[in-house]
Amino acid sequence: MRIYRLFVFALFSLAACSAPKPASETAPSGAGSIELQKRPQNIILLIGDGMGLGQISAGLYANGNQLNLERCTVTGLHKSYASNDLITDSAAGATAFACGVKTYNGAIGVDAAGKPAKTILEEAQQRGLATGLIATSSITHATPASFIAHVANRGEEEAIATFFPDSGIDLFIGGGKKFFDRRETDERDLLQQLRKKGYVISHYAEKDLAQITPDPAHPFGYLSADNSPLTAESGRDYLEPAARMAPPFLAKRSNKGFFLMIEGSQIDWGGHAKDAQYIVNEMLDFDKAIGVALDFAKADGRTLVIITADHETGGFSINPGSVMGSIKGAFTTDQHTGTLIPVFAYGPGAELFGGVYENTAIYHKMRRALGFDK
Ligand code: MG
Ligand code: ZN
Repeated sequence: MRIYRLFVFALFSLAACSAPKPASETAPSGAGSIELQKRPQNIILLIGDGMGLGQISAGLYANGNQLNLERCTVTGLHKSYASNDLITDSAAGATAFACGVKTYNGAIGVDAAGKPAKTILEEAQQRGLATGLIATSSITHATPASFIAHVANRGEEEAIATFFPDSGIDLFIGGGKKFFDRRETDERDLLQQLRKKGYVISHYAEKDLAQITPDPAHPFGYLSADNSPLTAESGRDYLEPAARMAPPFLAKRSNKGFFLMIEGSQIDWGGHAKDAQYIVNEMLDFDKAIGVALDFAKADGRTLVIITADHETGGFSINPGSVMGSIKGAFTTDQHTGTLIPVFAYGPGAELFGGVYENTAIYHKMRRALGFDK
C-alpha cells in the first residue's frame, strides 16, 4: 500500500514537473573538486543543434565507424531541460550554456524572469579576449543569438541583430543578412553601422568563404542571405572553412585568448524533417568542423574544445536492419526530446567535463577553466 502511494505520488510529481525544480542547478556538478592541471587560454565551444547519441551514432556508422569526435579525451552528460518545460528549445538550451541560467523556452540571453543575463561571450570581450560566433543558420537564430543578445523571444531576429554593432565581437559568420540591411521594424542599416566601426563585411553571394583570409587588423563578418546553403546541395563547404579560419584569426586579435562558438545548426532540422540522410549529412559536416578545431587545439596546446548539443531532436534511433555504412533510422517524434545529452572535451580544462550535470554547469565549467571565477 505504501509503495502504491509512493508510486501515485511519483506519478503526480512527474505530472506536476513540467517545470522541473531548479534545485539541482546548485548541486555538485561532479567536477567541483577537480584541480585544473593547466588553464586554457582559448575555448572553442561546438554545438550540434539537435545532436543526441542517435545522431552521433548515425554519423559514425555511416562514415565507416569513424568520427573526429572520438579524438576527445573526456565525455560527460548534461540535463537539458528548460525552466518551464522538461523539453527545451534551442533558445533556453543555448542561454543555459551562454549565461548559466535555466530559463524559459524562447528566451534569448535572459533569465526565467526576463532579466538580461551576462553571456560568457560578453564577459570574455570585456576581459579583453577576442570573440566569435559561427552558425549554419542565420546568425540571429536562437543558438548564436543567446551568446550576444538579450530579448524576450527568439522570433525577434531584427532586435537580435541590433546587438551586433555594439558587441565588440571580433568575428561572426552565418546567415540572416536581411535582418541587418533590409529591416522591417526600422530603417537602420546595421551593416553600414558595422562598417563604420571598422568591420570588414563580406557576403556569401560575393565570395566563397574558403577563398577569404580576413585581415586580423579589422573585425570580420560574413553573411549569407538566409540560412547557410547546405553543403550537400551547394557543393560549397561552409562550416569547415569557417572553423579553419576563425581560431588563428581570433588568436591574432588578442594575446589574452579567445572564446569561439561554432554551431552545426541544421542537424536539428534533419530531426524535425524526420530525414535520416539530412541528419547524417549535417552530422558529418559538423564533424569536419570538429576535426579542424581539434587540429588547432592540438597544435596550439592552450585551447579547450567542448562539443555538445542543446537537446536531441526526433527521438532518432538506429533501428534493426541497419548495417555499417547504411543506417535505418527511426523517429519517435518530429519535435525535440528530453534525453541526456553527451558532452565531449579535449585540451587543458577538459577534465572538468566528465560526469553528469545540468546544462548550466557548462557555463560555470567554462568560466572556471578560463579563470573568470577568480
Ligand atoms: Mg540552433
Ligand atoms: Zn529544433
